[in-house]
Amino acid sequence: MPKRLDLLSGLYLHIPFCKQACSYCDFYFVTRQEFKEPFVNALIQEIESYEGTHYASNTFHTLYIGGGTPSLLAISSLQRIIDAIKRVFTLELREFTVELNPDDVSLSYLRDLSELGVNRISMGVQTFAEERLKFMHRAHSRSQAIQALEAMMQSPIRNYTVDLIYGQPGQSLEELYEDIQQLMIFNPPHISAYALTIEKNTRLAKQVDLGRVIPAVDDTVAEHMEALEERLFSHGLNRYEVSSFARPGKEALHNQLYWYHGNYLGFGPGAHSFWKPSSRSAVRWSNARNLTKYLEQAQQIREIGLERAEKMDHSALVEEYLWLSMRTASGLDREYLQNVYEYQLTERQETRLEQMVHHKWLRKEGACYRITSTGFSISDRLGLDLIS
Ligand code: SF4
Repeated sequence: MPKRLDLLSGLYLHIPFCKQACSYCDFYFVTRQEFKEPFVNALIQEIESYEGTHYASNTFHTLYIGGGTPSLLAISSLQRIIDAIKRVFTLELREFTVELNPDDVSLSYLRDLSELGVNRISMGVQTFAEERLKFMHRAHSRSQAIQALEAMMQSPIRNYTVDLIYGQPGQSLEELYEDIQQLMIFNPPHISAYALTIEKNTRLAKQVDLGRVIPAVDDTVAEHMEALEERLFSHGLNRYEVSSFARPGKEALHNQLYWYHGNYLGFGPGAHSFWKPSSRSAVRWSNARNLTKYLEQAQQIREIGLERAEKMDHSALVEEYLWLSMRTASGLDREYLQNVYEYQLTERQETRLEQMVHHKWLRKEGACYRITSTGFSISDRLGLDLIS
């Protein structure tokens, strides 16, 4: 049975500032920097609005500062935010991650972060190819990415992950191999690899609409994914989720809370929260993706979010577990389903699972259906098959 990750709880802080807009990005961010100080004040107000609530009586095991670009905040601002978190919440942190962009990384910044208690870094490298970085409108260069990784090697923070993007328009397999080879010089403990997707309202979507960019075809993306999995595996990194690869024991704890229905609270514009008081119900809410509103309403943000919260009943929770189980290497565990969700698979679901085993998309291990490499490439389809 997988570890009871649903019993862990996490905190997520969204820092919505970026130097410039990456062409593919649909996260919530702003490029104007003058609101940093008011934002930090508002974020602290939102954190403090949880004081004395039943949420605050919980113990939290992970803290993740993401964005946007958290490394655009001064260490003193991060310190103020962390102090507020410690005042309001009980922490037994097993993982404390901060996202950094390579152009902000220096050994002294990493040392400062380590002193704040950060024990994991997430770095958006995406590619080492200069032209491709320009095409994606990333703020960093190849040499900055290499310098940042060199700094990581000397950093007191030993645990980190690097984001890579594959399936870029016109990207050849050789170019992808070069990215992997360059990255492997540093032996990262964890890699998150994403296929470049065309999200609505991004500069990339516009370029595609105008015919200036031709997206990679599905077969090429699948070929890249397969090659990536093979290469990373040969370097000791196992695929434990559709986009996540880790050396044994280096799997990201915070992300796993999202996949196993652990409780998490999100702070900052656009941040999501999820709370499951019992195995049979949960609520999910999010903050508006609007910095101006956030600055005006920081004290009421929690109530506004909760008023609009989506309630999840037992069947919605089970459905989501089934869907998510087709995205993780640990797969679907019948005993876990029974013990945690008090749910028995239907006859139709049993039949579907057996068919998936027959097609070698899953393999059976005791009470578990584990996803195979081939299964990973169609995990959305498998999830849908199981719940429809
Ligand atoms: S730095 Fe990250 S959050 Fe900011 S625009 Fe680029 S991809 Fe998006």
